[in-house]
Order: sequence, then C-alpha cells, then structure tokens
Amino acid sequence: VALPPTVTLDSRFARELPEMALPWRAEQAPEPRLLLLDEQLAGELGLDPAWLRSPEGLRFLVGVDVPEGATPVAQAYAGHQFGGYTPRLGDGRALLLGELTDTGGRLVDLHLKGSGRTPFARGGDGLAAVGPMLREYVVSRAMHGLGIPTTRALAVTATGRTVRRETPLPGAVLTRVASSHLRVGSFSYARATDDTDLLRRLADHAIARHHPAAAEADQPYLALFESVVAAQAALVARWMLVGFVHGVMNTDNMTISGETIDYGPCAFMEAFDPATVYSSIDHGGRYAYGNQPVVAEWDLARLAEALLPLLHEEQDAAVELAVQALGTFRPLYNAAWAAGMRAKLGLPDAADDAEPAPLFVDLLALLQQDHVDHTSFYRALARAARGDAEPVRLLFLDLAGVDAWLDRWRALSPDPDAMDRVNPVYVPRNHLVEEALDAATGGDLAPLHRLVDAVSAPFQARPGLERYAAPAPQDFGAYQTFC
Ligand code: AMP
Ligand code: MG
Ligand code: MG
Repeated sequence: VALPPTVTLDSRFARELPEMALPWRAEQAPEPRLLLLDEQLAGELGLDPAWLRSPEGLRFLVGVDVPEGATPVAQAYAGHQFGGYTPRLGDGRALLLGELTDTGGRLVDLHLKGSGRTPFARGGDGLAAVGPMLREYVVSRAMHGLGIPTTRALAVTATGRTVRRETPLPGAVLTRVASSHLRVGSFSYARATDDTDLLRRLADHAIARHHPAAAEADQPYLALFESVVAAQAALVARWMLVGFVHGVMNTDNMTISGETIDYGPCAFMEAFDPATVYSSIDHGGRYAYGNQPVVAEWDLARLAEALLPLLHEEQDAAVELAVQALGTFRPLYNAAWAAGMRAKLGLPDAADDAEPAPLFVDLLALLQQDHVDHTSFYRALARAARGDAEPVRLLFLDLAGVDAWLDRWRALSPDPDAMDRVNPVYVPRNHLVEEALDAATGGDLAPLHRLVDAVSAPFQARPGLERYAAPAPQDFGAYQTFC
C-alpha cells in the first residue's frame, strides 16, 4: 500500500459564501468496498490510485476520513422543479468535501453523493443505492468520452449500508468531481434572501471560477449572465446532436459552469423522435428530447430574474438588459446545432450556420418517420460517403425518400473520415446499462467494466464490441428511468 498522499482541500466556497454552506459530516460506512475507480481522473487530480484503493483511501472516498483542515459542507440552493419553485432544496444527500487543484492547475470540487442525511434532506434518507450511482458513473464517463462538458465520477464505493427503496438495496457513495456545483438554483437562493451583498459575492465567485473574462467587462454581472447563456446554448446543442435526454432539467440541475450535472433519469435516445421521454415522472413531457433547448432558455430566464438587482439599479432597465442577453440564446443555440449537424454530415464549415438548413430538417423528418436509430445512422451514413449506401438504406422503409436525400447530401462532397471523428459508435444504450447494473447489483462487475470500456472511447470502432453499437432488441420494450 502506497503512503497516503497529502490531499489538500481548500474550502473556498464555504469561506466566501458561508450563508450557503452548512458544515456537515458524512455518515459512517460500515464496510466500504470500491466498485469503480476512474484511474485516469485520479491521476489528473494528483491522487494515487493505489492509495485510493487502500482502506484509508476508501474512507476518504466515502467522506468518513476528511483531510486535515477541510470543511465539508452541504450547499444550499433553491430550484424550479417541473416549473414549480422550491425555495429551499440544497444538498439533502450530498456534501462538498472541498476544492482541489488538479495537476493542470484547475480548481475543482470534490463532492459526495449518498453520504447520509443533511439538514436539507426533508423526508429523504440521505442515501443512494449502488445502481443509480453506477449509472451516473457510466453515463458521465460516456459524456466525457464524447467531449461533452460534464461532472465526472471518480469512484463508486459500496458502503455496506442497506438502502430501502421498493426493495432493500445495497447503498453506495459516488465521489464526484466538477468544476463547481454552482447552479441556477444557487442564484435563486441567494436572490431570495434579499441580501444583495450575498448575491454579489456569489456572482463574483462564479465569475472568478468559471467566466473570468466577465470581470474585465464594462458590466461584469451582465457579462456573467451572457457567458452562462452561451455555455448552456453550446452544451444543450451537444446533447441534441448526440441524442442525450437529460430528463430533469430543473433549475437546481443546471450548472453555471456549463457542465452537464445530475445523471438521474437521463437516457440516450434510440429511434429519433423529438417527443422522446424516459423519465417515469415526466408525465407532461416537459423534459422531452425536443423540448430541451426551450427548457434551457426557460431555466436561464430564472437565472436572469435572480441576477436583476446586479444588472441595474432600476428594475425596468435591468429587465431590458436581461431580456436582450437572453435573446442571444436562440441564435447561439441554432448556430452551435447547425455547425454540429454539418460536422455530423461531413460537410465543410459554412458562414451561414445561424439557421437550420433544409437538408437537416428533411433528414430529421425521415429519421422520425422511419424510427431510425439516432446513433448508428450517422456511422452507416459515413459508409455511404465511402460508396456503400446499403447499410444506411437498410435503416429506412421510405427508400425513395432516403435516396432523394442521399443524392442532395452527396452533391455536397461529404468527408466520411471527418464524420467518424464526431459521430460515436458507442453510447451507453439503455438495455446495456440495465444489464450491466443488474449484474453489478448481483455481484458481477464484468459487464459494467466492458460497458465502461466501450463508452470511454466512443468514436473508435473495435472488434468484439458489435453489441455495444446496436440498438436494443425489440423485446426490450419501452424504456423508463426512475430517480
Ligand atoms: P435531484 O432530483 O437529484 O436533483 O434532487 C432534488 C433534491 O432532492 C435535492 O435537494 C437532493 O439533495 C434531494 N434528494 C434527492 N434524493 C434524496 C435522498 N435520498 N435523501 C435526501 N435528499 C434527497
Ligand atoms: Mg439535483
Ligand atoms: Mg438526481
């Protein structure tokens, strides 16, 4: 066993924003057992994987042993959940251990999920079951592999505790790394206190950590808002291009950094359809695949409301500035999405990416009409650019329709190698995630390791992984996620 490294955790959030940081400790874990560890991430953090696997390391990963000088806190935040405002949510089953400077000099949060009840727990037990924590590990690893900004999972550690859900389940702690855990809901919380000094300190903290260029702007807080709008427009465009359905885009689940956070009821879409919903509690389809850009804009409007007192002394003038800045979301989103679609289709960059082109719109209509698998379609299409159109034609019923579209597309000289660099072969497909989690809950981690390996390098097709590139078999049926 390697000697314990000196892990130094800062408490910058707790120090600068004590009103939003409640000092708290993790619950004891009777029998910590490591299930998954991202060794590459450990390396980036300057943590020795061998030490993390040791008994001392495990106690660190579940928050039972805290480095000298660290101040773990539960963070306070508010949130609009399915549109309804809850003034006091906060970390009910999570803790911010502190901030760590990684080997690249970046400050990141080290955070626990499933570490026991906090004063924000309300009716909850403060715990997490092994299955959902492994799910967050797999999906966030996949998102990172895809190059999409995301929180990351350092480790999942079984605690030896039993968690009561519909049935008794093994408990776990997820050790999460993020560039921060500031959310839109953090700003709503600060705003609701009517303490403008707190709101300003929160905004200054966010600027320093995520949007430092805003500090140099004429109006730093307006620039902060504009930066968050831009980051979220870019992020949601990435989700849409890869078929990711977040599932619970409440304002407490939208980061200020522009990273994807909270892998609860999320899933990757297979048959292309804007109405796709997986979450068992999303009855109205508020967070359907196709609604995500509009919902992101709605969430950002809530951020704007929270920031109003910092934008201008006079409310009317503040509102005008906020509305103007929020107005940049749609053009930024459309440009990011259109540029991404051009790349997916192997087409050179164009200056006029602001509007979705008819070629894209017609393709999506064909994909939807024939229930075509979103992920494998683009890889099959690259083969068409190499001269073999049969794999892609096989995905459609409307052959006349697809042939006509392929003619228009080929006329633009698509580059198949460029396509394969941006279109993944492997995403965490729902049936494979379920299969791997079931096996893991039963004690067999092998399928989970294979799935993690596949999705960690999503663009590189490898022999033996064909199953990981194909949609669910028909008998898998309609998929539902729970959180
Ligand atoms: P989420 O739906 O994961 O974004 O969580 C929404 C809120 O519920 C947050 O304040 C969480 O901390 C809290 N929460 C979720 N699950 C639990 C639990 N098992 N115990 C206590 N609080 C929870
Ligand atoms: Mg959440
Ligand atoms: Mg959640």
